[in-house]
Amino acid sequence: MEILFCGVRGSTPAPGADFVRVGGNTSCVALTRTGEDTPALVLDAGTGLQRLTARLGGAPFKGTLLVTHLHWDHCHGIPFFRSGDQPGSEVTMLIPDQRDGRSAVDVLAGSMSPPHFPIRPEGLEGSWRFATLEEGEHAIEGFEVTAVELPHKGGRTFGYRIVDSGGASVVYASDHGPQAMGPGDDGHGPLHEAILDLARGADVLIHDAQFTASELPLAEDYGHATVDYCYRLAQAADVGRLVLFHHSPVRVDDDVERLGDLAPAGLDVTIAREGETITL
Ligand SMILES: [Zn+2]
Ligand SMILES: [Zn+2]
Repeated sequence: MEILFCGVRGSTPAPGADFVRVGGNTSCVALTRTGEDTPALVLDAGTGLQRLTARLGGAPFKGTLLVTHLHWDHCHGIPFFRSGDQPGSEVTMLIPDQRDGRSAVDVLAGSMSPPHFPIRPEGLEGSWRFATLEEGEHAIEGFEVTAVELPHKGGRTFGYRIVDSGGASVVYASDHGPQAMGPGDDGHGPLHEAILDLARGADVLIHDAQFTASELPLAEDYGHATVDYCYRLAQAADVGRLVLFHHSPVRVDDDVERLGDLAPAGLDVTIAREGETITL
C-alpha cells in the first residue's frame, strides 16, 4: 500500500514560512491499495483533506473517511473537501460511537451546522453515508481494520491498525494520552495493553508526538503523548518504522526536524511531512 501524508499537524493549522517544510495542515493520511491508482481509505479528515483533492486531480472521491475522533483538527477538512463535496462522489464517513445515543451525522453536526457553518453534513453534494463504528475487527475498502479505544481528552477516540491483502500493516494512533492511565515507569505514561496489542510488529507506527519531555505537564493537560513515549512504545512493540506525527502547531520546522535526534540507536524514525509517501 501507499501511505500519503496529507496533513501532519495537531490542534490547528500552522501556516507561514516557518512551517513550509513539514507542512501546516491538520491530520489526514490517505491509503492506496497496491495496484490501485487512487486512495480509497483516508484516516482522519483534517484540513489536509485539501491535499487529497489535489491528489485526485479534483475528481470525485470514492471511498471511506475513517475518523479517530471528532476534535476539530480531525474533521475540519470535511466542509472544504471539494472531491467529496461534488456530484459523483461516494463517501462513507465512519466515526467512533460516542455511546450517547446520537447518530453519526448528529455528532458531526455538533460542529458543522448553523450558526457554526452554513450547512449540515447532509447538505454536502454527492453521495455521503455517515455511520458509527465500535471497537473490533472491520473490513473497510479492501483492508482489515482493527479499532481500539485509546485514552484522549474529550470524546471517544480510536486508534486503528490497517492491514492490506499482502499483509503489510500500518498503525495510526494520532491522538493518545497515555498519562491518563498513570505515570508509567518514567512519568510519560504506561505502555498499556491496548496500544501494545495494536502496535505490535506493525510495519509502520504513526503516533502522536505533539510534545517533548520538557513539555510533559502540557502533554498530560491536553491528553497527548511525548516523543519519548513514542520511542519506548516503538521499541516495546517492535515496529518496523516509527513516524512522529500530530506535530504541535507552534513547533517550527527546525525544531520538528530535531525531534528525531534523540531516537534510540537501531530504531527507524521518520518525521511525518505533508506530501511525503511511504510505500509498503
Ligand atoms: Zn488531534
Ligand atoms: Zn484530539
